Amino acid sequence: MAVLPILRFEDKIVETVEKNPVVVIIGETGSGKSTQLSQILHRRGYTRSGAIAITQPRRVAAVSLSRRVALEVGVQLGEEVGYAIRFEDRTSAKTCIKYLTDGVLLRESLSNPELNQYSVIILDEVHERSLNSDIILGLMKRLVKIRSSNLRVLITSATLDGVKVSKFFSGCPVMNIPGKLFPVEKLYSSERPKCYIESSLRTALDIHSREPPGDILIFMTGKDDIDKMVSKLEEKIQNLDEGSCMDAQVLSLHGSLPPEMQVRVFSPAHPNCRRIIVATNIAETSLTVDGVVYVIDTGYVKQRQYNPSTGMYSLDVVQISRVQADQRAGRAGRTRPGKCYRLYPSKVYHEEFLDATVPEIQRSSLAGSVLYLKSLNLPDIDILNFDFLDPPSRESLADALRQLYLIDAIDEDGMITHVGRTMAELPLEPSLSRTLIEANELGCLSQALTVVAMLSAEITHLSIHSIKDKKRKQPLKLPSGSYWGDHIHLLRIYENWDCADYDPAWCTEHNLQVRNMKFSRDVRKQLSQIMQKISKGPVDIQSSVRQKKGEQEYRSLRKALCRGFGNQLAERMLHHNGFRTLGYRSQLVQVHPSSMLETNEDGRLPDYVVYHELISTSRPFMRNVCAVDISWVAPILKKLEKMDIHKLSGGLESEKIEQAEHKQLQLHNLEESGSGRGDSMESRIQAARERYLARKANK
Ligand code: ADP
Ligand code: MG
Repeated sequence: MAVLPILRFEDKIVETVEKNPVVVIIGETGSGKSTQLSQILHRRGYTRSGAIAITQPRRVAAVSLSRRVALEVGVQLGEEVGYAIRFEDRTSAKTCIKYLTDGVLLRESLSNPELNQYSVIILDEVHERSLNSDIILGLMKRLVKIRSSNLRVLITSATLDGVKVSKFFSGCPVMNIPGKLFPVEKLYSSERPKCYIESSLRTALDIHSREPPGDILIFMTGKDDIDKMVSKLEEKIQNLDEGSCMDAQVLSLHGSLPPEMQVRVFSPAHPNCRRIIVATNIAETSLTVDGVVYVIDTGYVKQRQYNPSTGMYSLDVVQISRVQADQRAGRAGRTRPGKCYRLYPSKVYHEEFLDATVPEIQRSSLAGSVLYLKSLNLPDIDILNFDFLDPPSRESLADALRQLYLIDAIDEDGMITHVGRTMAELPLEPSLSRTLIEANELGCLSQALTVVAMLSAEITHLSIHSIKDKKRKQPLKLPSGSYWGDHIHLLRIYENWDCADYDPAWCTEHNLQVRNMKFSRDVRKQLSQIMQKISKGPVDIQSSVRQKKGEQEYRSLRKALCRGFGNQLAERMLHHNGFRTLGYRSQLVQVHPSSMLETNEDGRLPDYVVYHELISTSRPFMRNVCAVDISWVAPILKKLEKMDIHKLSGGLESEKIEQAEHKQLQLHNLEESGSGRGDSMESRIQAARERYLARKANK
């Protein structure tokens, strides 16, 4: 294999990193940033004083890269080279090159805010602008000041605006690694196709029958479309006249593919066989597939967006940005000149596409991130004015603060509470953490753990539904979710599996994915252990889930769910086939068609439900609902009456900050005469002093 571009710059990189605490490295996808930078710094001794962390926005990438690097270094995965993703840790005491998701790094910094275990932190794939990596960027800005002597931060990207990041880090150096991309011819469609699956299918078959050898990469929006496309392609290829063209192998590539299926795209094609890879935008920059010469770009991507004023998520298929389109095209020119078939007119590319993708932080619910920032205990954090690379809207920040306040994570002065601190330690969204804590108090933790684990393992109702449709010969014996909603339904499934002694055959019989069910069992175990560790009081976790059925249909469990999701309440409309959400935003919604909520014997739906999330597709739907009693919710909503967003944001008003900083300054002056201050304490005080003086000067 040819030498990767980045290796030719090894000396220059090491020299720059040596002299600068923060370095931005920009290089084409495939230049070796993700797999080589860590190895270079390891070779040059940076792992002697700590490990190297390389963050990834995607779980799949963390796993796949660490496998690759372990192979290149010649060690067992999990020893010197390992990975950590949520609910899965393949590292050991020996690990000095660690690939981890940005979410895991955030979590680690909670227990060790200075991240002293690392000598180098590489924030990889920053152009993806994931929510967590944007938060980490903000934190790194603080951390490099505190650990300026013994921490190196590298920020890598395929496309990012280096100047902007450099400015954010007070003018740190930007290194550009020239790629060796071959020219890619761009072929535009004259108009947008009516059906982009049909159109990609035709284009792929066209290339296959006419063009010289070389793999084809097709960008689709999601797993469902990929599955459709793969089966159509396979069918068509089988029907081609024997000998009319070379063999073809169709492969899919997306985040929910089991690992053993993912690695298939990295093994080269058999001679005289063309590979057709149907992928999500994971193949845009996260994973580099060699051998691609033809790219089919549909021009779309699936994006989850959160609207803070309605509290609603939508999963929209949206147009990609120009940066994304260029990245996609670039995949065709890695090994030789290639072709990119854009299934849209050039006018669309030039006039309709945005320059760059909207960062996730500007289209997500921020409750988890804000809780995290609050739990860092930094005295001067004012959430509404936190230093973000691209600040989210004030409305989303306020929305997050309000949610956290309603579930008791912060008090009315914006200070993190004891409950909030415990919540931050659980690797879950805040509402689910709150549910577990409440369940522990109400004596139904065991059941709540099961529900949360089932949700985390994404045992979806969709798959349960699809069984119904398939008219299986064998009657379905799955318990019904009935009147109490989806959470109770999930719990009953797990309980039945438990009664079947966790037999994999039971899952298959009920058309539940064995892998996911096993994963939920594993997650349940891990969450139990965390609850045991962080709960000061007694913890009710049974080794088995089997419990006496809760009187009144799991009343305590529903109550606990209500504590976590009480601000997401909906009331059944009389004379109307739907619900109305209550609280600080009110709208008509329906229960999602995949829900297992059913009417009772009188044909009635519950009067009140809490919902896990609102999702807008053809109309607003509630996903995962649970029947609750209105008397449980009233005290929660009452909290809204005495809420002040500014207090929630800053904790301290500026007056109080000044007082606090003045005190710190005095303390510092006192300590001047003493000795033995830690570096970090000193620089923190220094920073506080500078802020104090700057504010004074502004007056
Ligand atoms: P970058 O991060 O700059 O996009 P990478 O370090 O991911 O580049 O990739 C460099 C090279 O390593 C590419 O040629 C790619 O094909 C190869 N590579 C990366 N991951 C794997 C893997 N899991 N298996 C096989 N080859 C891989
Ligand atoms: Mg990379």
